[in-house]
Amino acid sequence: MRRETQCVHRGGLPDPMTGGINSPIYPSTAAGYLDRDRVPYQRYFNTPNQAAVVAKVAALEGAEDGVLFSSGMAAISTILLALLRSGDHAVFQEELYGGTCALVTDLFPRLGIDYSFVPITPEAIQQAVTDRTKVIFLESPTNPLLRVVDLRRVAEWARARGVITVADNTFATPINQTPAALGIDVVVHSGTKYLGGHSDIQCGIALADAELAGRIRHQACHLGGSLNAATCHLLERSLKTLHVRVERQTENAGRLAGFLAQHPAVAQVYYPGLPTDPGHPIAAAQMRGFGAMLAFDVRRELSADAVQRRLKLICPAVSLGGVETTICAPVQTSHAKLSPAERQRLGITESLLRVSVGIEHHDDLIDDLAQALGDGTP
Ligand SMILES: *Cc1c(COP(=O)(O)O)cnc(C)c1O
Repeated sequence: MRRETQCVHRGGLPDPMTGGINSPIYPSTAAGYLDRDRVPYQRYFNTPNQAAVVAKVAALEGAEDGVLFSSGMAAISTILLALLRSGDHAVFQEELYGGTCALVTDLFPRLGIDYSFVPITPEAIQQAVTDRTKVIFLESPTNPLLRVVDLRRVAEWARARGVITVADNTFATPINQTPAALGIDVVVHSGTKYLGGHSDIQCGIALADAELAGRIRHQACHLGGSLNAATCHLLERSLKTLHVRVERQTENAGRLAGFLAQHPAVAQVYYPGLPTDPGHPIAAAQMRGFGAMLAFDVRRELSADAVQRRLKLICPAVSLGGVETTICAPVQTSHAKLSPAERQRLGITESLLRVSVGIEHHDDLIDDLAQALGDGTP
């Protein structure tokens, strides 16, 4: 089955009572146990509604198995606690989702787990690995500058040394990138973003082979963080349109990037689909599409805040991945807590805007950006 078809058909549950073609919702947290060897229980991560979603996303990611969570951070924290113990060391790329950075710096010292944050080049990652390193944690494309990590190169190198690789695939989605096919061991998503796709549910998922997924599930049963049946239903429903949504969003992002790249009010565009982007060659090799996130620097005389306030259609908002196009200034949102020096080192300027491109008509989006940017004069 191709991805378009998997989105619609994989993982559906039969409905013998009515013959209905949608999965029934099974909300019970108490179930008869006599003459049954497995009692379904949400926090055991074994309910039929959870299984229906896992089957669909695992098929899309080309993974054997998966564990569904109540948020992306529940997935990420559980994966790390399942794979690391006191005395171990883990390597993280320094351009990483802020919540993951905060988890590591807050929790790991208390658990006696060592860590390094390193630049996203394979060389820097490999140099940081010691004989105590158990996990390399990657994310590509990155937030907010859409830098691209060579997943295959890091995965092959790590596998030869018995180091487990984890990749956060939230930005790319399994429509545009399947890290498991590049040799990554554990793929993780904040399903709150593209998988949910309508900015109205919170969830996360980890995908891996049966052995690693079993380790993650075992830890998950201790930590909780499971997803309820009603949200499983909404997520399953959302996933049926994942392919059409992401395909349109990706196409729109390419058009917006092209428009912004030639606009006099724009100093720089960050989008791996642009042939001039430094991440383009690796993205072209490891992604099927270049994704629907992009960022741009407005010229310094223009205020990023004023540009956001002039927009009429595109909504200044946090989070990403919904059907509606949203925009935010990372200095005001995801990277507000960093010091100016740290932001400067990472290339995150006061004039940077990050766009999550939706499914609207691209010309309406371009018209809105055009009127908000003006002719490039402040
Ligand atoms: C949002 C996000 C997360 C965290 O997901 P939550 O559902 O908010 O817990 C992790 N990684 C990336 C790349 C994200 O964008």
